[in-house]
Amino acid sequence: MAIIMDGKALAEKLRAGIKEECGRLPRRPALAVILVGEDPASQVYVRNKEKDCTECNIRSEGYRLDAHTSEDQLLGLIDVLNNNDLVDGILVQLPLPAQIDQEKIIHAIRPDKDVDAFHPFNVGKIVTGEAGFLPCTPAGVMELLREYDISASGKRCVVVGRSNIVGKPMALLLLRENGTVTVCHSKTADLAEETRRADILVSAVGKRGVITGDMVKDGAVVIDVAMNRDEAGKLCGDCVFDEVAEKASYITPVPGGVGPMTRLVLMQNTLAAAKAHLV
Ligand code: NAP
Repeated sequence: MAIIMDGKALAEKLRAGIKEECGRLPRRPALAVILVGEDPASQVYVRNKEKDCTECNIRSEGYRLDAHTSEDQLLGLIDVLNNNDLVDGILVQLPLPAQIDQEKIIHAIRPDKDVDAFHPFNVGKIVTGEAGFLPCTPAGVMELLREYDISASGKRCVVVGRSNIVGKPMALLLLRENGTVTVCHSKTADLAEETRRADILVSAVGKRGVITGDMVKDGAVVIDVAMNRDEAGKLCGDCVFDEVAEKASYITPVPGGVGPMTRLVLMQNTLAAAKAHLV
């Protein structure tokens, strides 16, 4: 039976360090959080981020805009926040309503305030390995691996999913740690053949049950990034948990695995932004 990787406990431990560091700065770091519309899941994510800010001694500025907000209105707000020296980080909760071009918004955020690390400037730094903001979910996964003394170096790492926010940057961070990385997606011819080779398997698909026990090598480390809902509305990941946990050496639970670590890295990035602004 696998060891359960406790992201909740690790995030709590690391938050204490962030809080202490924030308290030592000449002013509190500040994160502007923008939510457009009333998507219930997004509302929960935003509330959680604001709660994390409070716990970390980070000032959060919440902006709730109605669902009919125009692209120009949102760009206008971002411009104001870009030019406000008391704001260190700007986060626009995705997805955005259809009338707003997501890419345009991401590009409008000043790279030194782009604490989600979605701006192409920051993505480029992730690709080249330069210092900069780390992508929240993949960096959270790497923190979790470090905490459990799991090195990617020389390991076969298989990432399922190739989105810009999870799959691709996850593959890059594993590669940076000298993993031998394969990226799978919906067109992968034989997913099970790929996943069975993994020493470290990261699943970021968003489909409940896509990873079954027979797709996992004995002793593999399995990181389940997904946040799905079962028939009862309960949060669950991509893995058939009991089957996969039977085979794996380590596994992340959903909830309580990667999710809290993603939130933690956002706080780390906001602190890093403030430190850069305060020099
Ligand atoms: P996404 O943009 O929908 O990407 C999903 C990826 O999975 C795509 O690359 C897709 O391939 C691939 N895929 C779909 N069906 C597949 C299949 N049957 N076999 C293999 N690959 C398949 O999703 P995302 O934003 O990356 O998020 C993925 C999951 O992680 C979601 O459940 C999301 O809620 C969760 N998430 C969790 C956190 C956290 O903090 N825990 C953070 C972000 C996201 P194609 O590219 O070919 O379409």
